[in-house]
Amino acid sequence: MKIICVGLNYRKHAAEMGRPLPPEPMIFLKPDSALLKKNKPFFIPDFSKNLQFEAEVVLRISKLGKGIAAKYADRYYDALTVGIDFTARDLQHKFSQAGHPWELSKTFDGSAPLGTFIPAERFPSHSDISFSLEINGEPRQEGNTSDLIFGFADIIEYVSTFYTLKTGDLIFTGTPSGVGPVKKGDNLVARLAGETVLDFFVR
Ligand code: MG
Repeated sequence: MKIICVGLNYRKHAAEMGRPLPPEPMIFLKPDSALLKKNKPFFIPDFSKNLQFEAEVVLRISKLGKGIAAKYADRYYDALTVGIDFTARDLQHKFSQAGHPWELSKTFDGSAPLGTFIPAERFPSHSDISFSLEINGEPRQEGNTSDLIFGFADIIEYVSTFYTLKTGDLIFTGTPSGVGPVKKGDNLVARLAGETVLDFFVR
């Protein structure tokens, strides 16, 4: 399986990163070894001094597809949750400044904690789903899919022109503003439409 991620997909987050809005979805992939399931702890890797959280709505692909038209995109995923796109921000900046791919800063082992899935049909509108991240009981990120620059259908249409989507593939749809560093002992709790889907510790 593959984990497809969208970067800079909320205006306020692009602004806090000091980046212009992308004219088309900005895509990168994480390997399956990035996945962290069942609320297992996240261990801060030794290679980063600025490891940051990015809470994102995640789609679970449920059907094989290629060249999917946006109007049919909702037939290709069956469940949603929240995941964290952990980012070694210091490495990302270092690689970017060198003009190199920053892939390693976001795709290392354990960089994709994944919540419990909620069936897609439980959400009346997929373009109005709230989600949030709390750290140690304090609100840190609040998002709503109504603020996505590229919505679920646009993302699926775009990525499926390049990649065949397969059952079990995941799409991380981008983070809202409020990203920041984690430290040992932090407890991250993510909610989707008010339901707790992710609850784990940083070690
Ligand atoms: Mg992200």
